[in-house]
Amino acid sequence: MEKSSIAIDRLVRAVLAKSGVIGARELAAWKRPKDDIRRLCQRDYPASVRRHLDSGQIKELVRRARDVWPHFNRKVLGPPSPGFFSRAADALQLHFKAARYSSLALYGFYVDRANTQLSKPLIFINSSHHALAIGTAFCHEVGHHFATEVGKHHKPNGISFYFDAAYNAHLRDEGELFADMVVSLAGYPKPAAEVIFAKPQGKKRAFKRGLDYSLIERIRQHIASSYGFDFSASLSPRQNLQYLAGMLHYAKLRAALLEQFDV
Ligand SMILES: [Zn+2]
Repeated sequence: MEKSSIAIDRLVRAVLAKSGVIGARELAAWKRPKDDIRRLCQRDYPASVRRHLDSGQIKELVRRARDVWPHFNRKVLGPPSPGFFSRAADALQLHFKAARYSSLALYGFYVDRANTQLSKPLIFINSSHHALAIGTAFCHEVGHHFATEVGKHHKPNGISFYFDAAYNAHLRDEGELFADMVVSLAGYPKPAAEVIFAKPQGKKRAFKRGLDYSLIERIRQHIASSYGFDFSASLSPRQNLQYLAGMLHYAKLRAALLEQFDV
């Protein structure tokens, strides 16, 4: 085994050992996905993106992402395959490690290089999840990497955990919202977003708080046709509810970005 891969494995083990303590609140939330869904259905996403993001920052992010993925926000990104991850990690000068981890509450984490002995920052992804969730986690962690590159949103300890829970909390955290923006733009490129979140006759574009059935149906169909994900019966009801929470969160965020910044 190469020296760097031994160092990566050691770091991954050390960080995972902290996840239960650092993520206590998120791990508790993960056990109550219905609460999470209820809260994020009620949240005013346009207000959150106005408060925490600005158009210059978004343009910079899209420009940087297109260095790696030229069709970012023009076409759906993916498919989320091992080749897709390793090509992006190489282009971004990142260490990338995917391995199965027992707790499905954890999607992955990003570690800033400054806090480690490694030569490059590290993205770790829990590969126990569905391919779409793995792709979501990867794009989110790449979002943290872009954030450090543009000199914003450094985490105090250099570690950004991503738990598949408590998405509400992301709306109050600039760094998490910035990272989530990469996921929303990757999964819902502008041409698709304009169709999915089209203004219904006589109503405001997109949704502020509520989600009507036909809109959820359009979101679900987009995810199914783009990524082959459709809430399988082979997953536990709680896991499906957690994936639903993620789907609603990223869709509401995408609609808010379209509405507020026309991106
Ligand atoms: Zn994060």
